[in-house]
Amino acid sequence: CGIVGATGLNQVLPSLLKGLEKLEYRGYDSAGVYVNGGDAGDFLVKEKGRVSMLEAATKGKNITGTAGIAHTRWATHGGVSVENAHPHMSEDGRFYLVHNGVIENYDELRDTYLQGVKLQSETDTEVAVQLIDKFSKEDGVSTFDALRKMISLLDDNSAYGFLLMDRETPTLMYAAKKKSPLLIGVSDQGNVVTSDAAAMLDVTQDFIELMDGEVAIVDQNQVRLFDAQGQKLTRDAFHLDINA
Ligand code: GLU
Repeated sequence: CGIVGATGLNQVLPSLLKGLEKLEYRGYDSAGVYVNGGDAGDFLVKEKGRVSMLEAATKGKNITGTAGIAHTRWATHGGVSVENAHPHMSEDGRFYLVHNGVIENYDELRDTYLQGVKLQSETDTEVAVQLIDKFSKEDGVSTFDALRKMISLLDDNSAYGFLLMDRETPTLMYAAKKKSPLLIGVSDQGNVVTSDAAAMLDVTQDFIELMDGEVAIVDQNQVRLFDAQGQKLTRDAFHLDINA
């Protein structure tokens, strides 16, 4: 339902939680956050109910880190539970994924590719992150190519805004979208990705729109955009005048 992510911020958690609060008006049933804490480890916290309950659950955990992703979920595949809340993690804890939308052929993909994988949730989204992990291991390809291969297997009726992190490249976020909005916000203090600019206006008012089929690799001080064929492209940011 709602996506926020950021990299390069001094402390990322408060910005992510604030961003989720700004998305609450859209409605949701659960929420979660992943922060890459570097040497401090990985932090993954998920809760049913309000963002304030997620925030309470993050207290006392000493969550530090400059990059992370967060999500408010409106369940489509799988009931409302902590396990089904996003971010979803790959089997060995390398990849973390949040997703808006639906993957219509997820059960077929699971049965074809993930026979040996013990899934932790009932969601279509977990199938996507386990596929990325599998392709990156078995094909020995980059995370960018593993993500693109996963996307290429989704049937035409699927819709997605994906935001992915890989703990082997802790400052990077990978974004991809089709029929579900994603914007990349750029600023001197770090870069963000969100499904709704309103969530991140405290960080920046300058956004690059991602188009259907495109993939972006967002680092702390660099944004790279690619078309559906994997060719590099450029697009200027637009300035959102919040007084307009
Ligand atoms: N289909 C996903 C799920 O049920 C994402 C739903 C959403 O857009 O929040 O977990």
